Amino acid sequence: MGERLYRTTGIIIRRMDVGEADRLITVLTPEGKLTATARGVRKTASKLAGHLELLSECQLQLARGRSRDVITQSMALSRFEPVHNALLTMAAGYYVAELADAMVADEETAPGAYTCLKQTLQHLPTAPTVDMVLHWYTLQLCDAAGYRPQLVTCVVCGQMLTEAAERWSVRQGGMLCNDCRRMDSQAQLIELAVFKVLRFTQRESLAVVMTIKQPPEVHDRVFALLRQWVMQQSERRLRSATFLDDVRRAQS
Ligand SMILES: [Zn+2]
Repeated sequence: MGERLYRTTGIIIRRMDVGEADRLITVLTPEGKLTATARGVRKTASKLAGHLELLSECQLQLARGRSRDVITQSMALSRFEPVHNALLTMAAGYYVAELADAMVADEETAPGAYTCLKQTLQHLPTAPTVDMVLHWYTLQLCDAAGYRPQLVTCVVCGQMLTEAAERWSVRQGGMLCNDCRRMDSQAQLIELAVFKVLRFTQRESLAVVMTIKQPPEVHDRVFALLRQWVMQQSERRLRSATFLDDVRRAQS
């Protein structure tokens, strides 16, 4: 009986009600993503309730089930309280959770994804601009999930990219040099400022990236390119993006 139980720590990135009182909980752990059942969690007397909130970091005990594992114990380690104190960081929180769910496949390991989500939730409330944190998060998450866009060397011929490069190809997987610009007729023209933000953000640490200031139109463009990238790789729509954009617009 003992080996049916195991423990893990993870951040809750998705919750879905099922049946009368159960909930499916999707957790990003240092080992990858898992979805388990929390039985009876919507009943007020449930011992699990309150310990399985969206964006909480929890210590979980699970029992292996035939189809799905079942959460038997849960203790919230951190709720990232400051994220929930402002509408903008809350919208950003939903967005990063949805991105993690989209990019990391079920039962798949994605080394680094968990750390990058945790760092993002810790820094969102204090960052001078939420936008830079979100760009950084998206690029690091893509990297962790094995979908890193190629921004240093040409994705077709491999030569080092210069500032003259201006075509972004989702189909090829990154930037094209000028010799290869015709390799994808649907490659998009991107401005140098946008290319620089993408490169810088992919390369640097969050501490460095989050202090950078950019005009709103550059942020909008980076958001658009990275979302298109994520949706292409994950074949998913991002439902939280509209909410995030509404809040960003209202506060700019
Ligand atoms: Zn090339």
